[in-house]
Amino acid sequence: MNSLESQFASIQEVDCQDVLVVHTPMTREQAREEYPGRPHEPTKTRLVESRYGGVGYAGGDVEMMMNKEGVKCAMCEAPTKKDFLKEGVCPDCDGRAEAQGNDPRRPQSV
Ligand SMILES: [Zn+2]
Repeated sequence: MNSLESQFASIQEVDCQDVLVVHTPMTREQAREEYPGRPHEPTKTRLVESRYGGVGYAGGDVEMMMNKEGVKCAMCEAPTKKDFLKEGVCPDCDGRAEAQGNDPRRPQSV
């Protein structure tokens, strides 16, 4: 078994590339263990507050979107500052937000 694989995910070949695919549903507690860097789900509102949105703006996400300095993430639709988007996807969705952009499950080569 590859070091990235777990009881929930395995390496599969997609379009000639090896990708880690989650194939088994996780409970909330199991998901927190698998993805420690992900933001916690908010308890009082259904909206997820992205750290990459309009934090520095007086009007928050709304002002950022009106100034056309932000775009909704293609995956989670969180308002995201354009600087943080990579191919239309925010850092929370493509994994860059986890452990300062490092995959916490993949050992880093120094
Ligand atoms: Zn996103």
